[in-house]
Amino acid sequence: MKGERVDIGIIGGTGIYDSGLLESSKEIKIFTPYGRPSDFITVGLFRGKSVAFIPRHGKGHQIPPHIINFRANIWSFKQLGVTRIIAPAAVGSLREELKPGDIVIPDQFIDRTQGRASSFYDGGQVCHVSTADPFCPELSEIAFEAGRELSLPVHKGGTCVVVQGPRFSTRAESKLFRSWGADIINMTIVPECVLAREAEICYAPLATITDYDVWKKRLVSVDGIVRILKENVDKTRKLLEVMMRRIPEKRECFCKDALKEAIL
Ligand SMILES: [Zn+2]
Repeated sequence: MKGERVDIGIIGGTGIYDSGLLESSKEIKIFTPYGRPSDFITVGLFRGKSVAFIPRHGKGHQIPPHIINFRANIWSFKQLGVTRIIAPAAVGSLREELKPGDIVIPDQFIDRTQGRASSFYDGGQVCHVSTADPFCPELSEIAFEAGRELSLPVHKGGTCVVVQGPRFSTRAESKLFRSWGADIINMTIVPECVLAREAEICYAPLATITDYDVWKKRLVSVDGIVRILKENVDKTRKLLEVMMRRIPEKRECFCKDALKEAIL
């Protein structure tokens, strides 16, 4: 991996394993102090930008959300020089108006995960990084504007509750999350975004809605869900393409200085 310098990292979510989007790509194996990342990292050019890609659940979707080695994934990107991470992720909807097939660029999370390694600072140095605004405002705005340019059903802002999984919520939990003001539900955004913040890497989730969560009585058709998933993958690819064009060279956001007053 010596000599590779990459600006943008993409963590492929459910349905996005294929890094066929990259040109002149090669696979890199990275070892980290935290063990192995989810898979090989593919590095190449995407619309003229140097990009690293990793499938969050591994190429064959063999790693369940609660087992993902988030620290190894983020550490690998940091080693490659990544300064911005775009994170497509499949989510469930907790709101009538957020429909399957829509895209949400959330601005908050509620963490309901348990026992995950969620910090690089486990001893020696103590680090209290701010997650008051957990996602990069600049990169999120670029994602939203790209969605508008493409006339995609994209929503700006929203709260994502992140659950431990791998089981889905009970109806009571789903209703509780709605009462807390959560808009969408997912199993992976935390601690991924927190570790990115600790690494001073910008992070923006592209949350694509697969279906309504169980608060809503619904008729589940596997065909329907598979179709939505496929369409969401297409939308995500288009969104990523436009984002590449819109991402400026320099970062003007606070993410790059996240550790300034965080380390004791
Ligand atoms: Zn940022």
